Amino acid sequence: MKELQILYLYPDILELYGDYGNIQVLKYRLEKRGIKAIITPYTIGDNAPNFKDFDIVFAGGGADQEQSILAKDLIKYKDNIKEAIENKVFFLLICGAYQLFGKYYKDVDGNIIDGLDVFPYYTEAINDRKKRCIGNIIIDVTLNGNKTKVIGFENHGGQTFDINTPFGEVLFGNGNKFGDTNEGFFLENVIATYLHRASSF
Ligand code: GLN
Repeated sequence: MKELQILYLYPDILELYGDYGNIQVLKYRLEKRGIKAIITPYTIGDNAPNFKDFDIVFAGGGADQEQSILAKDLIKYKDNIKEAIENKVFFLLICGAYQLFGKYYKDVDGNIIDGLDVFPYYTEAINDRKKRCIGNIIIDVTLNGNKTKVIGFENHGGQTFDINTPFGEVLFGNGNKFGDTNEGFFLENVIATYLHRASSF
């Protein structure tokens, strides 16, 4: 039986709005195709993973406080992560994790959490903590030349700037920032998105 190695980052810290569902769905779909999913969780204090050894790396969303808890740990792996991305390991990053792969995240009080700086975007929370991009969101996405719609749920104060390669075009909701037409960040082997519980239709 074929096997696929999935690295699941910080499952105890980054788990908002059922982000674990991504792992469950990946496992289910792989098994339906006769591929065994081997899931390796990694969190602070565990043995260092070698990112290049995996086929897929997944990390979910987290509130500002959770992001600040793990950011320093994540940065230890910057070079290893860069190398894995260059080696075409596939990364799926949701919301809080999406933000942490950019240059930095500035919270509503002006505190800066350094990001991994492996991608060229940055995120700043809007100045009013009551204002957040919250609700259901629908985007148009082109995957392997096929157009599809992806629906999910967003809840973020962070506004993400300097995205040249978005994941999708917003049909309903906000996306990378209030009223944006772009959502997420997309490379051949990276999907970073604000959409929790995403499914396509
Ligand atoms: N802390 C970030 C924000 O509010 C991310 C939140 C999340 O992961 N949903 O912008």
